[in-house]
Amino acid sequence: MKVAVVGSGIVGATCAYYLSKENVELTVFDYGVGQATKASAGIISPWFSKRRNKPWYKMARLGADFYLKLVEDLQKDGFSTDFYKQSGVYLLRKDDSKLEELLEIAENRKELSPMIGDLKIISLEEAKLSIPNFNNNGRVLFASGGARIEGERFVNSLLNASKARVIREKVAIELENDKYKIKGETFDKVIIAVGAWAKDILAPLGYAVDVRPQKGQLRDYRITDKNSGNYPVIMPEGELDIIPFEDGIISVGATHENNMGFDLTIDKAKLDDFGLEAQSFLQSLSAAAIINERVGIRAYTSDFSPFYGEILNSNGLYVASGLGSSGLTTGPLIGYELVNIVMNKKTILNVDDYPVSRYIKKL
Ligand SMILES: Cc1cc2nc3c(=O)[nH]c(=O)nc-3n(C[C@H](O)[C@H](O)[C@H](O)COP(=O)(O)OP(=O)(O)OC[C@H]3O[C@@H](n4cnc5c(N)ncnc54)[C@H](O)[C@@H]3O)c2cc1C
Repeated sequence: MKVAVVGSGIVGATCAYYLSKENVELTVFDYGVGQATKASAGIISPWFSKRRNKPWYKMARLGADFYLKLVEDLQKDGFSTDFYKQSGVYLLRKDDSKLEELLEIAENRKELSPMIGDLKIISLEEAKLSIPNFNNNGRVLFASGGARIEGERFVNSLLNASKARVIREKVAIELENDKYKIKGETFDKVIIAVGAWAKDILAPLGYAVDVRPQKGQLRDYRITDKNSGNYPVIMPEGELDIIPFEDGIISVGATHENNMGFDLTIDKAKLDDFGLEAQSFLQSLSAAAIINERVGIRAYTSDFSPFYGEILNSNGLYVASGLGSSGLTTGPLIGYELVNIVMNKKTILNVDDYPVSRYIKKL
């Protein structure tokens, strides 16, 4: 069976890795420009969310758990998994008396998600033991199981492990005699993992698609403390997150900009504001060098829910999109599920909870 994966962000790269374990002839097409995954430095810590959407929460908590399987599978195959680390997270509230409520939510979720790890509210002094330059106006909720991932390294590692043929081009899908063709080559099944570009690729095939773009930017700094890889992720209230990596690298972000279309220009003023706010939590950032600025486009549906599965009556088109701002958490599980569907295997989630037909309609 010949399978094409179009788009190789976190979803497409995971599809490629798990498809490479099946008896299929695999080709990956990826343009890469504006990719959300490689722009992201991300946090895997869904357990404190107050979103009421139950199918979403189930996907997010199982998505966090899924990293353990993915890491184990890659390590068994002899590949590095240093894109992922359970470094723990510090959750901050402007009013730290709100932390007890947050702790209770997480304690209640621990039974289904033991991966949360140790949960405790700690003083500023205790918090400084793990991050020497940390500052805050109150206590901190620590969850030892929270993790951070580096999106670009994730994708490169999985594509490398898949050994797939990768064609780095923007492609179109054509339908000819009931068969799907890409660059003149016919495929039995096509997985569309193009994130925010779902409308772009499906409209020419006669589909209406409920997916819109949202611009996200972040900035990477380098501080002098080389031990930063052991810092927990700092999550103040609001948009700002401070995500530490090895060797003094600290990512600060991320913006959530609607109505900007697919604009990929860096807005330094916005990133400066984030940087300034971040200094109040991690003081070493005030003397840090700026080493990189990134921009990517997230995909949202009108009800903020992700979807994945086969497109109704398409005879071989599979799709996932709408992962929004939690796609690093849900993306690998969605990729794995798509492969299960393509290969007619049992899925982990109930696919009817994330119906493609709600967001993609034949015109
Ligand atoms: C700055 C930022 C920070 C984020 N932080 C977090 C976080 O902390 N935690 C979290 O869980 N999530 C986070 N996210 C969200 C997460 O990164 C995304 O939801 C996720 O990466 C989306 O993955 P995807 O595979 O669906 O799409 P993408 O990663 O966007 O990949 C789609 C790929 O398809 C390619 N493509 C499109 N059209 C075509 C075509 N016609 N032909 C070939 N290729 C094509 C694109 O070029 C791209 O490479 C963040 C996002 C951003 C931008």
